[in-house]
Amino acid sequence: MIASENYTSQAVMEAVGSVLTNKYAEGYPKARYYGGCENSDIVEQLAIDRAIKLFKVDHANVQPHSGSQANLAAYNALMNVGDKALALGLDHGGHLTHGHKVNITGKLYNFSHYGVRQDDELIDYDQMRDLAINNKPQVIVIGTTAYPRNLDFQRAKQIADEVGAFLLADIAHISGLVAANVHPSPVGFADVITMSTHKTLRGPRGGMILCNANIAKKIDKAVFPGSQGGPLMHVIAGKAVAYQEASTEEFINLQKNTVSNAKVLSEKLQNGGLRLVSGGTDNHLILVDVTSLKLNGKDAEDLLASCGIIVNKNAIPYDNLPPTITSGIRIGTPALTSRGFGHKEMEKVGEIIVNVLQSKDNMVIKNALETVIELCKEFPAPGIVVR
Ligand SMILES: *Cc1c(COP(=O)(O)O)cnc(C)c1O
Repeated sequence: MIASENYTSQAVMEAVGSVLTNKYAEGYPKARYYGGCENSDIVEQLAIDRAIKLFKVDHANVQPHSGSQANLAAYNALMNVGDKALALGLDHGGHLTHGHKVNITGKLYNFSHYGVRQDDELIDYDQMRDLAINNKPQVIVIGTTAYPRNLDFQRAKQIADEVGAFLLADIAHISGLVAANVHPSPVGFADVITMSTHKTLRGPRGGMILCNANIAKKIDKAVFPGSQGGPLMHVIAGKAVAYQEASTEEFINLQKNTVSNAKVLSEKLQNGGLRLVSGGTDNHLILVDVTSLKLNGKDAEDLLASCGIIVNKNAIPYDNLPPTITSGIRIGTPALTSRGFGHKEMEKVGEIIVNVLQSKDNMVIKNALETVIELCKEFPAPGIVVR
């Protein structure tokens, strides 16, 4: 139940396991620095065309090796070293690559950070605007890694326009929801959109950048030769497969179910007495404050692991505990929903989580583990062929 994880299909895994891993194809379709790229051109162009159609954008670069590489390339296209940027702080649900001091992005660029309000734990767009007016950033980033609510791209665009900044939407977590129209799209608001391809989108591990036609050349140059060498052609083949899958009715239903499963789970947890950050969820994840159960995030993570439920400890806004301990856990529904879990099963999972965290009792954990194993047998992981 790691919120950033999912199961790809067997078709995606076959593409990623294909002979395309052997090919060097530096450059872009029809403009390569190596010979023998005819098949690579077909594969990459297919991935690009499908991405453009899926997200309804002008331009797609499918080469970033990961979401982090996509962000680095996007910054490289939009800023000079030392330029100012503005993003949500990591401790409030942002990402390391949004200018955290331990990350290269925090060393190359001059980031300041907005947060969520203490009372309702929602993104403080007024603070975003104040910081934007005071600091005059070149880029404003909107995107989250541990935030259970919808993002207001329109509001962020108004603020970016007011100060003449580029708006970068990092939809790493929610790209599947966006593709299925289950979360509002940043298309039409953001100048550049970055993402990971392996989270809700269910593709292979990788990244992608979408943008308007006017900055397409800049983005392409910033990926190659700006920050990467040869593209991972086998992964790009996997992306092409995933984008086709993501354009089906089945995928749209999967994303709807991912969100409704999160709602069912959040109600179960709240009824069991757990406090949820922001009081609930609009998307695929839930952030639980475990301190009322006399637990910290690390202990809660360990307790749940002992009954076969894997989540991650996660800082909650205004957390007093260090990142290695934290006061919360982050729980996601994408992977279980891809396995076929519905509302009935999510209620069972919610019950287990509440019982285990409340009782911390060995007998309860043992029974919970049995139920978890039964559920996993009933809903086997997609994409895994047992030979
Ligand atoms: C996961 C994530 C990334 C980085 O993605 P990787 O593919 O792990 O490099 C970037 N931004 C956000 C908001 C994320 O959640």
